[in-house]
Amino acid sequence: MNSKLPDTGTTIFTVMSQLAVEYNAINLGQGFPDFMMSEGLIAVVNAAMQKGYNQYVHMCGLPLLREKIADKVQKLYHTAADAETQITVTPGGTYAIYTALTSILEKDDEVIVFEPAYDSYIPNIIINGAKPVLIQLQYPDYSIPWQEVKEKITAKTKAIIINSPHNPTGAVINENDIEQLRAIIHNNSNIFIISDEVYEHLIFDNLPHLSMLRYPDLLEKSFVCFSFGKTYNCTGWKIGYCIASPALMKEFRKVHQFNCFSCNSFVQYGLAAFLDNEDAYLSLGKFIQHKRDYFQNLMKATRFKSMPSYGSYFQCYSYKDFSDEDDMQLAIRLTKEYGVTTVPLSSFYQSKKDDKVLRFCFAKKEETLKEAASRLKKISV
Ligand code: GLN
Repeated sequence: MNSKLPDTGTTIFTVMSQLAVEYNAINLGQGFPDFMMSEGLIAVVNAAMQKGYNQYVHMCGLPLLREKIADKVQKLYHTAADAETQITVTPGGTYAIYTALTSILEKDDEVIVFEPAYDSYIPNIIINGAKPVLIQLQYPDYSIPWQEVKEKITAKTKAIIINSPHNPTGAVINENDIEQLRAIIHNNSNIFIISDEVYEHLIFDNLPHLSMLRYPDLLEKSFVCFSFGKTYNCTGWKIGYCIASPALMKEFRKVHQFNCFSCNSFVQYGLAAFLDNEDAYLSLGKFIQHKRDYFQNLMKATRFKSMPSYGSYFQCYSYKDFSDEDDMQLAIRLTKEYGVTTVPLSSFYQSKKDDKVLRFCFAKKEETLKEAASRLKKISV
């Protein structure tokens, strides 16, 4: 049988997490918190299950939850997203991105993807018969080279994937990026935006999150994808949502209804109740920023050099000053010999570009970060 994804192996997150388990290493690879999520959210979800909310909810998501999401985006981004026609609850952000791409891509369409790229984007494009057009973010600040973007747009360009805060680098888009994107969208009416905003609340140093939802002209052309797992420290719940214009959302739902149909009911009842608590998500940035700073400070005692992180769960560290080892090999060796697991940046490039950088997830308890740094301190080469 011909493989539809002949060049795709197992996702790096699974590979590294398995290795961490095998060697009993501290897992700073895959992005997930190791601290307890909110007891309050657990309680309302439990209560919903016990009250008997255990049957299918609406295919597009529990109406009350969609209304609460609409209220939230109105407050945060001053956008009137219609719960009925513009919001769909999904089993996670990754699924929302896949569904968005699947609902617009036709054979031989081109999609602009910035690398390093979250690892699901490119297989999502290929499985739809379309073609990723790769553009490298500019090392070392991972900014978008807009001139190159303009040069790579063709009559076949169907979409651009934007991800801010960015996984794996923690880079964040600014007003200039928005203006550049706007100019492209205005000049090319057939281009859509897939905006991966799963780290919307994990943004640091008082930077604003420049959601596509803030800009009506961009929202008109966007599928904006979010994750409750990231917002509420429960990545294993696999629940998120997508917001788009009514016309785009109509297509999105055609795909969604025959794939997931509807997400689990009790979690949606719980989230609908919990979304009233604004502080739970508004306090997240500061809380996680503190972890970034705590870990960065500890890492000063190691030979790794920190690179800026303005958002997400992640910070990149360079080791080019002390080793020219292949980053994948080093990541494996750190797991096996030092008991700390990371993700090599080359795994986010099709070309396996190796800038001697590893990604660390700092969304961990202080004791976990402290132990990891103390192990990394022992590295001589
Ligand atoms: N988003 C998480 C990360 O970057 C992983 C999600 C997954 O494993 N699919 O680590």
